[in-house]
Amino acid sequence: MDLRFPDDVEAFRTEIRTQIADLMADADAHADPADLTGLAEDFERRLLRTAGDRGWLALHWPTEAGGTGRSLAHRAAFGREAAALDAPLVDTAVTLAGAPILRYGSPDQHAALLGPMVRGEVVGAIGYTEAQAGSDLSAIATTATRTPVDDPDAPWTIDGEKVLVTGAHKADWILIVARTDPDPAAAPRKAMSMFVVPLATPGVTVTRVRTANDWTLGTVHFEGVEVPADALLGEVGRGFAQMAAALADERSGFFWVGWAEQRLADLVDHVMAVGTDALALPAAVARDRLARCVTDVALARALALRVVDAQARGGDATVAASLSKVFVTETLQRLAATGVALLGPAGLLTAPLFGPVPADAPLRGRFAYDTVERLHPTLSVGANEIQRDTIATRGLGLPPG
Ligand SMILES: Cc1cc2nc3c(=O)[nH]c(=O)nc-3n(C[C@H](O)[C@H](O)[C@H](O)COP(=O)(O)OP(=O)(O)OC[C@H]3O[C@@H](n4cnc5c(N)ncnc54)[C@H](O)[C@@H]3O)c2cc1C
Repeated sequence: MDLRFPDDVEAFRTEIRTQIADLMADADAHADPADLTGLAEDFERRLLRTAGDRGWLALHWPTEAGGTGRSLAHRAAFGREAAALDAPLVDTAVTLAGAPILRYGSPDQHAALLGPMVRGEVVGAIGYTEAQAGSDLSAIATTATRTPVDDPDAPWTIDGEKVLVTGAHKADWILIVARTDPDPAAAPRKAMSMFVVPLATPGVTVTRVRTANDWTLGTVHFEGVEVPADALLGEVGRGFAQMAAALADERSGFFWVGWAEQRLADLVDHVMAVGTDALALPAAVARDRLARCVTDVALARALALRVVDAQARGGDATVAASLSKVFVTETLQRLAATGVALLGPAGLLTAPLFGPVPADAPLRGRFAYDTVERLHPTLSVGANEIQRDTIATRGLGLPPG
């Protein structure tokens, strides 16, 4: 299997890497450690608009939807480079919320939502998780009701709370799933619907909750929030299925490979520069640990390429995506641990992604930062235990339960 992208995609990758690096050149002057991206919102929004102008935000979308009609491999290559350079262009509205809007939205919703997204003018958030509904999203308790219940023109009233929402504090709107069937006996998978809710709507409150690396996730509370009938995305009762399809799309994430490859390259460069005698582990152990990382990163790339390939062929990439997600996210954890082990006590010095770094922190304190940061990808976007369930049941055909 060829582990490179096709030649034209490799050429594109090289070209955008230079362009993204230029745009990120003065990122340290715009640090905001309280944001997941590590960057101040005005800098991030400027970058997003530039990315929109250059057609990067919807690379693989059809031109009639505002995309550039490139391949999924182009999108993967872009995600890889954005991640490697820590550019806040990975979890864009287009990646997360754009796909379900493109797939399930009405022509009016396409006109109102997709254009601004593709141009990088808006930031969207995803609100699926609730305090009692994470891995098991069938437990979603947020409700959306309308009176009369079967009047398609009646406004909806939303009540409930979404938690762990990435970027909620700076988002313009949030895509949520809520229960729309008032019958408590209704099967949860057929009782939910999807809505796009502007976060400025009266009754919506966003609270920032601090995370271990000092940035924040959002709790979004809805109290008697009234939205018009056209806030509904797709069909009433199809929200769960739509959400499952959207999550599968997100799981193809080549950006994880970008982070893994960059960290490995940084670590190898460092070892070559200081020599193995300067490391905190004996040379033979250090070589062994590094070689394991090289193997892991190569395999992570191969698994992710397999997902891109399966998606490009229009086949079912579910199991391939689960395998890839499990492996690359656990590779990121092993890389962080290996870096800290090789660097020794100095490797424990940490710093935010951007801005000042302690003078004696090797490699910008990145491996200590990642030791905490890389805990969450094995949980978010569908916990790895749930992915393993998918591999066992759908991949191997073992009985569920
Ligand atoms: C950094 C970060 C960003 C996030 N961003 C968003 C966002 O933008 N929008 C959003 O909606 N959500 C977001 N989430 C939430 C994320 O999707 C959930 O954390 C995830 O779905 C797991 O749910 P939970 O946290 O409730 O954990 P739980 O579901 O309670 O799981 C806890 C543990 O139990 C295990 N477990 C649960 N069920 C099973 C099972 N059946 N078999 C085996 N093991 C099981 C899990 O694997 C996990 O290890 C984010 C989370 C994080 C950490």
